[in-house]
Amino acid sequence: MSAPKVRKHLAADALLGLLRSGFADIGDHRLGDIDIALTDALMSAFALFSLKSPSLLAFDKERTEGNLQQVYGIERVPCDTAMRGILDPVQPESLRPLFKRVFGALQRGKALEEMVFVEGHYLLALDGTGYFSSQQIPCESCLETHHRNGTVTYRHQMLGAALVHPDQRAVIPLMPEPIIKHDGTDKNDCERTAAKRLITKLRQDHPHLKLIVTEDSLSSNAPHIQVLHEHHLHYILGVKEGDHAYLFEQVEAADHAGRVTYDDRDDPQTGVHQRFRFVSDVPLNESNGDLRVNFLECWEWDQAKDQVQHFSWVTDLRVNKGTVYQLMRGGRARWRIENETFNTLKNQGYHFEHNFGHGYQHLSGVFAILMMLAFLVDQVQQLCCPLFQAVWAKLGSKRRLWEKMRALFYDYALESMRHLFEALLYGLKKSAPIFAADSS
Ligand SMILES: [Zn+2]
Repeated sequence: MSAPKVRKHLAADALLGLLRSGFADIGDHRLGDIDIALTDALMSAFALFSLKSPSLLAFDKERTEGNLQQVYGIERVPCDTAMRGILDPVQPESLRPLFKRVFGALQRGKALEEMVFVEGHYLLALDGTGYFSSQQIPCESCLETHHRNGTVTYRHQMLGAALVHPDQRAVIPLMPEPIIKHDGTDKNDCERTAAKRLITKLRQDHPHLKLIVTEDSLSSNAPHIQVLHEHHLHYILGVKEGDHAYLFEQVEAADHAGRVTYDDRDDPQTGVHQRFRFVSDVPLNESNGDLRVNFLECWEWDQAKDQVQHFSWVTDLRVNKGTVYQLMRGGRARWRIENETFNTLKNQGYHFEHNFGHGYQHLSGVFAILMMLAFLVDQVQQLCCPLFQAVWAKLGSKRRLWEKMRALFYDYALESMRHLFEALLYGLKKSAPIFAADSS
């Protein structure tokens, strides 16, 4: 059996080296004598998420100093209290360059070609999610919900961003944007304000990246579309009849005037029948008559399940019989940020909603972003590393893969992440005894 070929610059060990040198570029906020370097504290927290330890205490108890040094390049591993103390004042924004570094490695390795959606454009899904909530001890960055009975819930949320593709399970997360206290009073406001920051910074990081943004129907409003337009971003955004009544009335009026187009598709293999209806150049709402969008919707009959689903979007891309099917797939790929990203983080071993530490300043956000970074490195392996893919296939699930990985990490001296994956795929080689038995 020959070993699966690994793209060296995108293999886990190369990426760990890339991250380590990226962490070393972040200035230490502490003055005077420093016991444990910031780089070591950041890399230790990264290792915690990379190994999917269920808690900081478990990581602290089970840690194998030798492997953390050898595999993650950590000189000194802080105890749980020290790690929280060192990381709390770190600005979450200082972690942005790490995402850019990994993205750059993907671009240089031509690994993003599989993620191209249409004509050199990638699909970028944006969505908000909560990852922390507590009844106690607010930090500087907490969102607050005041309840009628006088109690308060403190929460942390972020706006996630990831390149997605209808045919790829792997997603490529970009630097998320924390949703903060001053972003607004309701979910809609908060996400819109955070989205504006995310998009501005995204364009600073990637000025020329060709992107089609796909989001849910909360995003289909004139100010947000204006922001997308200003930053040269195309879009496919969900719309709902309940929230966009004027738009749907215009579509009905266009239908009566014979201006809409219908198109039908059958998939004899799956028994799925799709009917599309689309129309170009309609106003999004009554108060912004100058904002014109193209509208498409799809009814999908699944004979086997005996159910009908309905989807509808607005887009600035041209809709015709040649493009409508692909646009529908792009709009529906949005769920990958919910399913393949947030749900994976919450339910597939990453413990996204576990409280690893709240802190007084930024700890909660720093942990969430480092976990997203660990997820990014795993997704790169899933997309590009045949060795990782072979181990995953052999073990059957991510959960089992992380369990086996952690067990091996804690019990055997390892040389590298590659050594670990090879041991999972082929088994550990029995080491030869140091002294041959004396048979004389
Ligand atoms: Zn907080």
